[in-house]
Amino acid sequence: MNFLDQYRNPEMVRRLADRIHQRSTRPVRLMEFCGGHTVAIMKNGIRQLVPPQVQLLSGPGCPVCVTATADLNKAIGLARLPEVIVVTFGDLLKVPGSDTSLEKVRAEGGDVRVVYSVQDALGIAQKDPEKSVVFIGIGFETTAPTIAASILEAERRGMSNYYVLSLHKLCPPVMKALLDSKEVRLDGIICPGHVSTIIGSRPYEFISRDYGIACVVSGFEPLDILQCIEMLVKQIESGQPKVENAYPRAVRPEGNKEALKIMESVFEVSNANWRGLGEVADSGLRLKDEYRAFDAEEAFEISQRSVSDPEGCICGEILRGIKTPLDCKLFGKGCLPDHPVGPCMVSSEGSCAAYFQYGATSHER
Ligand code: SF4
Repeated sequence: MNFLDQYRNPEMVRRLADRIHQRSTRPVRLMEFCGGHTVAIMKNGIRQLVPPQVQLLSGPGCPVCVTATADLNKAIGLARLPEVIVVTFGDLLKVPGSDTSLEKVRAEGGDVRVVYSVQDALGIAQKDPEKSVVFIGIGFETTAPTIAASILEAERRGMSNYYVLSLHKLCPPVMKALLDSKEVRLDGIICPGHVSTIIGSRPYEFISRDYGIACVVSGFEPLDILQCIEMLVKQIESGQPKVENAYPRAVRPEGNKEALKIMESVFEVSNANWRGLGEVADSGLRLKDEYRAFDAEEAFEISQRSVSDPEGCICGEILRGIKTPLDCKLFGKGCLPDHPVGPCMVSSEGSCAAYFQYGATSHER
């Protein structure tokens, strides 16, 4: 039996779903912050398994989706420089900036390469010392430590043609910003699994303490998510919100101290620009002064182009949890995975892509 089969056992799924139905006596709104959870919920039909009064909302947890158009324009501007090789993870390629995308710039002759690990970016820089290699650093606390490690490695090797455009984002500060905005009323949060492997479960304590909202860290298998929902419903029904961990096989309360140490040795906290939320204080990471030689924003003149989000696209509202993809007039019509209008239809963790791929219909609103 595959290790993961035990987290997909249909009989246990049914039993857990029944328990949620029994416990749930009133409408609750739960937000999954992580795009990976949105995909798992849609793929496994979790919305259909839980009672209708348990509403599941997507949040700003897809790193490609939350990258602001202004920041995409920076990456596109770098890709247009003849001496630069832009290196990125695949999903970012198709996301439209103000007037083009990295994919289109590549078709016009720009050197844009897709890698599966940041180590590959270092390899490209080592092989081609005449060119400057810029890695587009998107992602949350999950990816920031490995990108920090690549900078330490570049320094160790004495490389002077490797740079990072740091567009990293931090989860707890944006959770706070979303709750402070009071745009969306939440009873519970499905806390991000991968991010929590790095930061642990403790950083969410302010959410239950200061906002009275239940928090449970979840894994990505059907039983993980259902167990998380059951724990959230139990907390809400008892009126005792707290932080719990339904993913103990990967997450510890204190997180991964080694990874955090590497991240904090290279990066410092800064403000960050989020799609749909604008600038959020202390929610990003920039290179510390001693590593500025690796900072693409310092090394290159990046043209600041006018910024406009795609017309008719409501990705920003979806990322804030106030609308779903089914509220978008373009969903499945003008906007399709092959012809995406906004990032939520591009990214493998995007809500619109997940809703489209797994056939969500308007009755699931
Ligand atoms: S369906 Fe397309 S246009 Fe509409 S919100 Fe999603 S990505 Fe944007």
